[in-house]
Amino acid sequence: MSDSFDVIVIGGGPAGYPAAIRAAQNKLSVACIDAWTNRDGSTAFGGTCLNAGCIPSKALLESTELYHRAQHEFAAHGMKLERISLDVALMQKRKTAIVKGMTQGILSLFKSAGVTPFTGRGRLLPGLEVEVTGADGARRMLQAKHVVLASGSEPMPLRGVDFDGKQVVDSWGALEFEAIPKRLLVIGAGVIGLELGSVWRRLGAETVVLEALEQFLPMADAAVSKEALRHFRKLGLDIRLGAKVSASKMEKDGVQVSYTDAKGGQSLVFDRVIVAIGRRPYTKDLLAEGTGVALDARGFVEVDDHCRTGAENIWAVGDCVRGPMLAHKGKEEGVAVADQIAGLYAHVNYKAIPSVIYTAPEIAWVGLTEEQAKAGGRNVKVGSFPFAASGRARAMEAGAGFCKIVADAGSDEILGIHIIGPMAGELIAEAVLAMEYSASCEDLQRTIHAHPTLSEALHEAALAADKRAIDIPNR
Ligand SMILES: Cc1cc2nc3c(=O)[nH]c(=O)nc-3n(C[C@H](O)[C@H](O)[C@H](O)COP(=O)(O)OP(=O)(O)OC[C@H]3O[C@@H](n4cnc5c(N)ncnc54)[C@H](O)[C@@H]3O)c2cc1C
Repeated sequence: MSDSFDVIVIGGGPAGYPAAIRAAQNKLSVACIDAWTNRDGSTAFGGTCLNAGCIPSKALLESTELYHRAQHEFAAHGMKLERISLDVALMQKRKTAIVKGMTQGILSLFKSAGVTPFTGRGRLLPGLEVEVTGADGARRMLQAKHVVLASGSEPMPLRGVDFDGKQVVDSWGALEFEAIPKRLLVIGAGVIGLELGSVWRRLGAETVVLEALEQFLPMADAAVSKEALRHFRKLGLDIRLGAKVSASKMEKDGVQVSYTDAKGGQSLVFDRVIVAIGRRPYTKDLLAEGTGVALDARGFVEVDDHCRTGAENIWAVGDCVRGPMLAHKGKEEGVAVADQIAGLYAHVNYKAIPSVIYTAPEIAWVGLTEEQAKAGGRNVKVGSFPFAASGRARAMEAGAGFCKIVADAGSDEILGIHIIGPMAGELIAEAVLAMEYSASCEDLQRTIHAHPTLSEALHEAALAADKRAIDIPNR
C-alpha cells in the first residue's frame, strides 16, 4: 500500500468522509484516517453523527414517538389498545443495528470510490506528513500534498458535575440507557438536551430540564420558542429556566444536584443526569509543533471563508471549525474543500444552513428570525399559517404549530422561514432551496403546492405575508 496520497483526511465523520469521497471522485488519491472506538472496542467510521449523535438519537426518537402516539393518539383514530409494553433492550438493539449498517456503509462507499481507510489516530507533522498510530501502538508515516482536518467535537463538561459513565453521562451515554430512569435530569435545554429529554420523557421518565439561560431556545424565532416551550411542558418536560447547576454528589438514593435560580439555592435528587450543555472542538494530539495551523481562543482550528487554514495546503472542516455544529454544514464544507483542491469552483452558503430539532412538534428554520432581521435594520413583513388550518395536518392528528415566513417589506426577498409542526425537518428543504435561489415571497406564492400536503402551510404563509392567504383570515 502506498504511503503517499494527494489528499489525507484526518477524521471520518460527516465532514471528513464526504471530503474523502469527493476528492476520490475528482481523481485524486485519498486516505481517510479515523480513530473512533466504540464502547466494545470495535472501530467505526462515521464520527459522532453516525455512532453517537444524529443517527442513534433519531432512531430512539422514532421508536419513542411511536410509543407515545400509540398511547395518546390512537384512541382518536378509533383504535383501542388494551395494553402496550416496551422492550428497551429491543429498542436499543434496533438502534445499534441501524448505526452498524450505516457505519459499515461508509467502508463500502470508500471501497467503490477508491479511498484508502486507516484506523488509528492521525497527527499532522510539518511538511504535510501525517503520523498514524493504531490501537496497538504501531506507527506509520504518510505523506500528503493536501491535508484536510476533520477531527470534530466532543461534549463540553460541566465543572462540579463529573461524568461517571453510568449515572452522570454525556449525550452518548444518554443514548445507551438500558432501562427507563425514574427521575431524570437534563442539564441544558439546547437541541441535544431537548431531543434526549423527549426520548426518555415519552417513555415515562420524570424529566427535569435545567437551563442556565433565562430565555428558551434563544437561537430560534421568538414565536417558535414560545410555542415550543408550551408543547414541551405539555409533554411533561419540567423545564426550569435561569437555573444554574453548580455541583453534583453521589448519594445513597441517587445523584444530588445543586443549582441556583431566582428563588435561591436548590437541590434535587435524580437517578440519571445527562449533561448536554454544548460541544467543543476536539483537536487533542492532532497537531505537532511547527505545522503552521492556528487554533483560536475557544480551540477551533482557524480557517477563512473557504476552510483554508493559514498553512499552505492544509484545510479544516466540520465541527472543529467555526460555524454551527451540524453534520450537513460539515458535509458541505468537506465536499467544497475537495473540489477546491481539484481546482474546481466551490462555495458554501452559510446564510442558508437549515437547523432542525427532531422533537414533537418538530422545529426547523433557515435564515434570519424576525428579531434578527429587525435588529439588522430590515423593514420586514411576516406571514404565518397554523397547521390547525391544514387539512393534511388535521388528518395526521398533528395540527400543532405553524409556518412563518419573514421577508423584506420592500424587495420581497425571503429572509427566513421558521416551522414548528409535523415533518418540519422535511418541509424546511423547500425553504432552503427558496433561499438558495434568492426567492421572493411572490415566487413561493406562485409555486403550486399539492393538496392536501403539509407544504401548503409554507405556501399559505407566503401568501399571508401579503395578506392574501386563502385558507385563513388575513389580519
Ligand atoms: C446526540 C447528538 C445528536 C445530534 N444530532 C444531529 C442532527 O440531528 N443533525 C445534525 O446535523 N447534527 C447533529 N449532531 C451534531 C453532529 O453529530 C456533528 O455536527 C457532526 O458529527 C460533526 O461532524 P464532524 O465530521 O465535523 O465531526 P465528528 O462527527 O465528531 O467526527 C470526527 C471524527 O474524527 C475522529 N478523530 C478526531 N481526531 C482524530 C485524529 N487525531 N485522528 C483520527 N481520527 C480523529 C473522531 O474519532 C471522529 O470519528 C448531533 C450530535 C449529538 C451529540
